[in-house]
Amino acid sequence: MSRPTHRAIARAPHVITLPKIERDPDVLQSFLSDAAHVPGGTADGVVFPGNVDEVAVIVATATHILPVGAQSSLTGGATPRGDVVLSTRRLSHIGEPEEGAVRVGAGVPLSELHQFLAARDLFYPPAPTFDGAFVGGTIATNAAGAATFKYGVTRNWLKGLTVVLADGSILDVKRGDVRASEEGLFEIETIGRGLVPVRVPTYEVPTHLPKLSAGYFAMPALDLVDLFCGSEGTLGIIVEATLAVKRRPLRCVALVSCESEEQAVKLAAALRNHSRFGHGTLDVAAIEYIDSKSLQLLDDATFARAGIGRPAPSATVLLVQMEIEHKFDTTLEEFQDVLRVHRIENDPVVALPDDERTAARLFELRESVPAAVNARVGAAKMRVHPDIQKVAGDFIVPSSSIEQALALYRDAFECRGLQYAIWGHISDGNLHPNLIPRSLDDVEKGRDALREMARGVIALGGAPLAEHGVGRNPLKQMFLRELYGEEGIEEMRAVKRALDPEGKFAAGVLFPP
Ligand SMILES: Cc1cc2nc3c(=O)[nH]c(=O)nc-3n(C[C@H](O)[C@H](O)[C@H](O)COP(=O)(O)OP(=O)(O)OC[C@H]3O[C@@H](n4cnc5c(N)ncnc54)[C@H](O)[C@@H]3O)c2cc1C
Repeated sequence: MSRPTHRAIARAPHVITLPKIERDPDVLQSFLSDAAHVPGGTADGVVFPGNVDEVAVIVATATHILPVGAQSSLTGGATPRGDVVLSTRRLSHIGEPEEGAVRVGAGVPLSELHQFLAARDLFYPPAPTFDGAFVGGTIATNAAGAATFKYGVTRNWLKGLTVVLADGSILDVKRGDVRASEEGLFEIETIGRGLVPVRVPTYEVPTHLPKLSAGYFAMPALDLVDLFCGSEGTLGIIVEATLAVKRRPLRCVALVSCESEEQAVKLAAALRNHSRFGHGTLDVAAIEYIDSKSLQLLDDATFARAGIGRPAPSATVLLVQMEIEHKFDTTLEEFQDVLRVHRIENDPVVALPDDERTAARLFELRESVPAAVNARVGAAKMRVHPDIQKVAGDFIVPSSSIEQALALYRDAFECRGLQYAIWGHISDGNLHPNLIPRSLDDVEKGRDALREMARGVIALGGAPLAEHGVGRNPLKQMFLRELYGEEGIEEMRAVKRALDPEGKFAAGVLFPP
């Protein structure tokens, strides 16, 4: 094996054909917004390159480009602001898996990748809850999901990338091949701009947290792959990736109704302790948390489909994913024991590994929560004021501080007289406090509450940017500044200037252009 170097050599495209830039308003219309539903998106065109050469040519000739995948961003990062939108949807190739890895086009939805891999008894674990997200988008945001607890984030599964740089050079980079020098420098030999030095930022990334999507990753001897992972489209366009995969596990899903938030938080902590990462043998992959206020937003039919009655007003639900070795594995008895010790009265609804139908219904209940909140935000926007927007946090704290963090979120909303719901990935300490706005004034107060929560979360050793990224959301950009300071932002800007001196890619994402 060759020793890593800090120098990477890019290549030129083989074939120079400029793909058509679509300017039909009806086609453009469907690209003007992402899942954050920030109003006012405008695009100068949309282009659908079908291979890396076409991406390189369009990048070399364009002035402002926004790469997008499924536009499921919750930060406005995939909402164009006059850019040409580069849709990756035609970059949809999936190669045959080899030696525990699969080569995939950036435009492959994770749901398709999962199906493809399942047919080969394989599995790609670090999926966000929304599995319609594209491979390129999940790498660009270093997405994480429920099962981060067991499997880590996208970065941990990324073995290589093909990226198109701002001058249209194509960079193929394998993990382990290119690492920053002792002085913290990469040198990239480009086609159009000669040798480009890129200095790795010196801020300290809070790597003790299980997930983080907060601007450019940095560490001594940084791998070049990791600079692009989480860069939210600002440094280059991810065209293909090599992803590690593993044998598909036997997964059980259990819906546990707890009588109170306190009981749910204690049970989640006990399950973490009984997991293989604690002192036990339970192979816990994920624990999702849905608070009583979230449950109250759901209709009776949603509970009926999940196989439970409407919970009592104070009830809180955990959705636990566990893996077993074989169908006669007895570790589930340990799970029952933990429930008994914590005095869980109702039997959990359990989907065993071959019962995908029940598992889907349980996940549907989880997914109904953000959908119900979004519906309320949409209704308030229609009926009360068009400027009403979603106001939501994506906070992470060390698992020992979850109780304090929940109290912080609740107090910040309640002392301002706001309505809210809280849910998320409690196994990682990553919860999403969401405002339920009734007026424009609520939106302002909600943002103020989030600012207070962000400061509190940082004080607890956590971070206000766990998995959704920063995007073009001014509040999240402020959180990024609070996390790394103005100096850190200036170091990020220097990386951006080195790789994209004309500010071609995703202008205004991470920091103002
Ligand atoms: C219901 C719901 C649940 C969600 N749950 C989770 C969750 O559990 N965990 C989580 O991490 N996220 C979650 N998200 C957020 C979102 O799904 C993720 O951020 C996802 O990774 C975005 O993928 P995408 O393909 O939709 O990217 P987009 O939204 O299209 O783009 C996101 C960002 O990446 C950039 N980008 C996209 N493709 C490329 C590319 N090929 N090259 C370079 N840059 C690119 C864009 O410019 C943009 O800045 C959720 C969203 C929704 C709506």
